[in-house]
Amino acid sequence: MTNKDVLNELFKEHLQNCSLSGLNSICKSDLHNHFGRGGSREYLESIFNIKIDSPPEKFEAFSHMDEWFIENIKKYCPYLKRLEAAFVQAASDNISVLAASFGFDEENMMAFIQTMKSLNLQFAPNTILLPEYALDRACDTDRELSRLDEVLSYKWFKSIDISYNEFAQPIKKFKKIYRKAKEYGLILRAHVGEFGTADDVMEAVEELELDEVHHGIAAAKSEQVMKWLSDHKIQLNVCPTSNIILRVVESYSVHPIRQLFDYGIPVTINTDDMLVFNQSVSQEYLNIFKSGLMNAEELDIIREIGLRALEHYN
Ligand SMILES: [Zn+2]
Repeated sequence: MTNKDVLNELFKEHLQNCSLSGLNSICKSDLHNHFGRGGSREYLESIFNIKIDSPPEKFEAFSHMDEWFIENIKKYCPYLKRLEAAFVQAASDNISVLAASFGFDEENMMAFIQTMKSLNLQFAPNTILLPEYALDRACDTDRELSRLDEVLSYKWFKSIDISYNEFAQPIKKFKKIYRKAKEYGLILRAHVGEFGTADDVMEAVEELELDEVHHGIAAAKSEQVMKWLSDHKIQLNVCPTSNIILRVVESYSVHPIRQLFDYGIPVTINTDDMLVFNQSVSQEYLNIFKSGLMNAEELDIIREIGLRALEHYN
């Protein structure tokens, strides 16, 4: 048996035994992670000696989640410490490859990159960080386009994303930005099909020539779109707990990742905003397994799909 075979067997065994500590020990990816929200509440509670109240069981809307985050966490925990917490979390869950998204407004980008590199080394030396440049869907696209050369000239970012309000403006407004990002060799991703429709997913992939979609679960409502995504091997980076708490999906046992997987679409399992949703990647796998939605073999295939992101590292 090769080392890889051993890991495959162990991962499945830990799922079947519902062993969270066992799952923690197996290498995994997290490819949809808003890094300023990527840590655990327990860690921030311990370093700031504070008590963070749990969020409501479900949020009324996306804005409700943002308000909760600002009031309960952002107010008390500065950005750099939250980034430190995100590295600590990645190390504790054995995340070997992490696409960490940053909404960017740094005055001194060189200094920020150096800080990230030293935090990476100090708190998660075995985690390969693939920094993602996150645009707000409501941003001024002309302004973003004009500064993109500078942002990407540091050759730090490996991917680009659009997040927040999916309905803020038409996706095609980002076309020029994505053309340029492609010239720089970035992986092209965008949040779409979380609250929107299957057609929105297809439109975004076509207009922006996306390699991957963050969420994209609305695609499961259209057989035609699922077949198209499968034919084009467009990867969907799915976050089950986020979907449940934001009322997009009723429960783990009916999550559309099942249909997406069955159509042969590459899917991965990720945390989204760990500080809010409070489920590690290992817990996400376990939640899906325990619900009976997918078996250990299938979840191990998903784990391996995620680890392919290591190929983007150089
Ligand atoms: Zn997200």
